[in-house]
Amino acid sequence: MPHPLLTRDAGARHLLLGNEAIVRGALEAGVDVITCYPGTPSSEVPDTFFRLSPEGDFYFEYSVNEKVALEVAGGATLAGALSLCTMKHVGVNVAADPLMTLTYVGAPGGLVLLSADDPGCHSSQNEQDNRIYARLGGLPCLEPSTAQEAKDMARDALLLSREMGAPALLRTTTRVNHLRGPVTFGARPEKEKPAGFQKNPARFVPVPAFSRPMHVRLLETIEKLRAEAEKSPYNRISGKGEIGVAASGIGRAYLADALAELGLAGKVKLLELGFTHPLPEKLCLKFLKGLSTVLVVEELEPVLENDLRVLAQKRGLNVAIRGKDVLPRNGEFSVGLVADALRTVLKLRKPQRKVCAGTADLPQRAPNLCASCPHRATYFAVKKVFGNDAVYSSDIGCYTLGILPPLAAADFLLCMGSSISAGSGAARAAGQTVVGFIGDSTFFHSGITGLVNAVFNRHDILLVIMDNHTTAMTGHQPNPGVDKTILGDNEAKVDIEAVCRGLGVTRIETVNPLHHKKMTAILEKMKAERGVRVIIAREPCPLHARRVYGAKVTRVAAVSDSCDQCGRCLDELACPAFHKTSSKVEINPLLCGGCMLCLQVCTHIKARKLEGK
Ligand code: SF4
Ligand code: SF4
Repeated sequence: MPHPLLTRDAGARHLLLGNEAIVRGALEAGVDVITCYPGTPSSEVPDTFFRLSPEGDFYFEYSVNEKVALEVAGGATLAGALSLCTMKHVGVNVAADPLMTLTYVGAPGGLVLLSADDPGCHSSQNEQDNRIYARLGGLPCLEPSTAQEAKDMARDALLLSREMGAPALLRTTTRVNHLRGPVTFGARPEKEKPAGFQKNPARFVPVPAFSRPMHVRLLETIEKLRAEAEKSPYNRISGKGEIGVAASGIGRAYLADALAELGLAGKVKLLELGFTHPLPEKLCLKFLKGLSTVLVVEELEPVLENDLRVLAQKRGLNVAIRGKDVLPRNGEFSVGLVADALRTVLKLRKPQRKVCAGTADLPQRAPNLCASCPHRATYFAVKKVFGNDAVYSSDIGCYTLGILPPLAAADFLLCMGSSISAGSGAARAAGQTVVGFIGDSTFFHSGITGLVNAVFNRHDILLVIMDNHTTAMTGHQPNPGVDKTILGDNEAKVDIEAVCRGLGVTRIETVNPLHHKKMTAILEKMKAERGVRVIIAREPCPLHARRVYGAKVTRVAAVSDSCDQCGRCLDELACPAFHKTSSKVEINPLLCGGCMLCLQVCTHIKARKLEGK
């Protein structure tokens, strides 16, 4: 029986995650090609396509980074394929180069870029608002607020893109990606083969002579898209009164609840925008007419607020436009926050909010690497050899969790792939010893170019490539260096060591970081040298090893009675399997992953065979 998401029948109703709803919407549009770089909060979109791919009638790939993902999808749409490219918001920065020209070249087959923004930085290094990319590039932008809309908008954005020959932005936020809601399916069409590439250099080759008319075409397309936004069912006005509220994206959901909470549903004039760029100016003017005050409810930047202010000024409307004076410009909204902003604007009395009392006995847990994570062994050895004499340049991956003491292995971090280049710069500027850390997936993403630069410019950096055979942080997606995926062997495995050699690195060592003595010896040797040096610390992520390689924990560590309670294991290793009772240090056998690192650190810890294993 096919996966429920693959059904061709209309009318089925399922409770879906926002990200699963996006997958269904793309299937209902007849998507041909899906590319991605996984990143929370969008990861379940490509992961679902990955799982469906053996049964699906589409091509799916995990690309090495977002720029490449968009370029592959861009090439596919030029050949007539309906294409979807997914990433998290910061990934769009990586893909910005092809994106800004794709809007000139166009998307004959249709192309949607899913940008999953993260207000509140739940799992990201910033909370940039990618609606601004829609304005910078001239892309239509659709912003769902429910699972049903996530499905419908994914479908409609793809179909709109194909119809207009222009790439479109589907902009979600964490709350939409990860909410669960009922979704009614539409029909899934039988597909035709993509038409193939039609040669036309004046249309598809943006050399300056052709780029200038392309820009004119783009500006004309924006106006055609504006006309579409004017009549879009995702944009609507309701209610009446002198005070209006405008909301976009997930702001519409918070607003609906806040109005219900205040008993104001239907009692104020509302402008709800789901198709948010280009701005449907006629609809907005119809909304603004006769209003004295407007409250704009939108997370992050005052994009709609400023658009409405400009429109009111251009049309000489005397209306006060409010938004970021009563709502924050950072973080996620909540119903209470929006209700309070409404109360302020409507001059209603604010109630004393009941503060949810914190649970006093709930243990506070700092972010930490898992028990038996090989990254702990790497950091432990590096700290032992370099201590505070080195500056630690970190990167994006679950190994960033090594930031807190006692490992304290992240002194600075900029973005994906930056540890090598930023580390090189820091070393060059101040002559300090720099140790950079990067994961295998991030190395393929954009670390390689930093390493080329370091070799070429003769920087002085020790790079530790932490190869755990997967992309652990975003959910164990494969990368070009893995042995296996959940679908089988990776027959085209790329050898990181060979890549480093090919880039011109001459000092390379590969070691299992769980072999503490060997790891420490290699670090000591590399510490005495200068220039670009690479250590590949290779050991699979234990969770991945269990899931994909079928690895089993047969032995765990146990603290013997001879332990003198010195606490070094807790203070220096900080493996979460350790804990201290009132009288002794113990290891929880349910948490211990059996990596045997602690046995190499303290002679009072012994291995214990697990019964039945
Ligand atoms: S297990 Fe070893 S390191 Fe931990 S408290 Fe006992 S003696 Fe100290
Ligand atoms: S063997 Fe030691 S370091 Fe490894 S997971 Fe178990 S308790 Fe932690």
